[in-house]
Amino acid sequence: MTRGKVSGIISNLVTVEVDGPVAQNEICFVSSGDIRMMAEVIKVIGKKVFVQVFESTRGLKTGCDVEFMGHMLEVSLGPGILSSIYDGLQNNLKTMEGVFLQRGEYTEALDNTVEWDFIPLVNEGDTARAGSWLGEVLENSLPHKIMTPFKFEGDYTVKSIAAAGSYTINHVIAVLTDSEGNDREVTMVQKWPVKVPITCYKDKPRPFRVMETGVRIFDTFNPIAEGGTGFIPGPFGSGKTVLQHALAKQAEADIIIMAACGERANEVVEIFMEFPKLDDPRTGRRLMERTIIICNTSNMPVAAREASVYTAMTLGEYYRSMGLKILLLADSTSRWAQALREMSNRLEELPGADAFPMDLSAIISNFYSRAGYVVLDNGKSGSVTFIGTVSPAGGNLKEPVTESTKKVARCFYALAQSRADSKRYPAVDPIDSYSKYLEYPEILEYLNTTVEENWPERIAESKNIILKGKEAAEQINILGDDGVPLDYHDRFWKSELIDFVILQQDAFDKIDASTPIERQKYMLDLVLEICRAESVFDSYEACAAHYKNLINILRQLNYSEFKSEKFYSYERKVLNHKL
Ligand code: ADP
Repeated sequence: MTRGKVSGIISNLVTVEVDGPVAQNEICFVSSGDIRMMAEVIKVIGKKVFVQVFESTRGLKTGCDVEFMGHMLEVSLGPGILSSIYDGLQNNLKTMEGVFLQRGEYTEALDNTVEWDFIPLVNEGDTARAGSWLGEVLENSLPHKIMTPFKFEGDYTVKSIAAAGSYTINHVIAVLTDSEGNDREVTMVQKWPVKVPITCYKDKPRPFRVMETGVRIFDTFNPIAEGGTGFIPGPFGSGKTVLQHALAKQAEADIIIMAACGERANEVVEIFMEFPKLDDPRTGRRLMERTIIICNTSNMPVAAREASVYTAMTLGEYYRSMGLKILLLADSTSRWAQALREMSNRLEELPGADAFPMDLSAIISNFYSRAGYVVLDNGKSGSVTFIGTVSPAGGNLKEPVTESTKKVARCFYALAQSRADSKRYPAVDPIDSYSKYLEYPEILEYLNTTVEENWPERIAESKNIILKGKEAAEQINILGDDGVPLDYHDRFWKSELIDFVILQQDAFDKIDASTPIERQKYMLDLVLEICRAESVFDSYEACAAHYKNLINILRQLNYSEFKSEKFYSYERKVLNHKL
């Protein structure tokens, strides 16, 4: 094992003189008195190695011992991950008092005393390769597959497999023999380096299915694909948290992973406190049962922040290999990029735009490309859908992190301060936002066949009404109510109708919070029917009154149980009103 001595310290960037070979991204431990702090190799020049310590290096001296571990930053994968709250290094924060660990303190990621009811899925003599399902346990009522470790290469034969029964994660549940006759034992837990994608699948086709979220501005206007990527840039107070909670609760996903990388400490504490309280509308139990939280605050060293997004993605890929649908929410990727910037600056690398590393774009793009829909070797499918938030400084959408993210993420949900200020929630701007999935023939085909024939055309029609309404509003603002033809008022109010009835959605109303796609279709059709009608008004006041009235009734419709008596009574009112 390679060892070294600390030769220089700049904050948590430490230089080490080593006595043997060291690999890029290898993990090491730096000892300072009684404290052993984990660190990662980020640059190697001959015998001089630069490591970033995942802790504060306060009190560290030159000459301190460093021990290299011979592997990269790894996470433990096995039953017991669900419901956990980890930091970026997979320390279990729930077992600790509060969010903060002491320096040099690391916890076990998985409980090795819990017994899991194991059911074998293979027989002796079967072939197995990396990622193949050997058995299954129930983890919070979700089937958790015990797989051939992803690090196993080539084909194996199952020599023995444990009988159905209760075992702890470290129990040997299978012995596999490789082509040369060597036996390897398999337990329920395996390790995997977070920066390396898990690629034990047969195929990774382009996303072709829409992931329903129950949020109308997503599903009706800018649908995200299952296995797709999206991002939400938004200023503070624009409703990011409410939107994320809505997605977590309602999206068509089996597992939610929430990576909170380096927001302010109190915001992370909020996630820590609030998430466990959320109810799961699907099961009626706690959402936390199918959630994993990874949180790092910005007062933790930058390196730990960087690790957290990778850890979250790796856990997502692990569950995807079991044939599950994962929704990964990262808040916020800007802090992660800032972590990269701090480190790159300390390394005195040549800076790119805004002093971010030159390869920022490549790093973000590589990360986003780990999301996706995959077909596994056994023909089953799984997906990781990734939605990251970005907190652009001063709301500047031209800064490098937003720009780089825009290049790779296929959906863009722009939270607009002006909409939040006028309490138009969710404050997603309907004009600036987009979903590039609406350009995919596979997705269009899906929408046409699964939602309804001509659905994509209706989406385009509604967007057009919004756009025309905005133009009309600008003219009215400049020329005054009387200075424009009545037709302008009509256009403006039609767009308001779509805004109030379709785009705005009350996340705190039991019924309005989540709209199934069937209901979204129904509402859009109703609203479009009104918009298509040629209306003739005597005055702009009459026009405004007409639409305000309609909006009021239609909003009541949104608050009523779908197709209930109450719903139909409001619908009748809408239809009467039109006449
Ligand atoms: P951020 O996380 O961006 O700082 P929040 O998500 O906490 O902002 O939202 C701020 C406030 O906006 C919330 O407390 C809530 O009152 C209001 N809000 C946001 N989204 C909605 C919504 N969909 N429906 C109703 N109110 C909302």
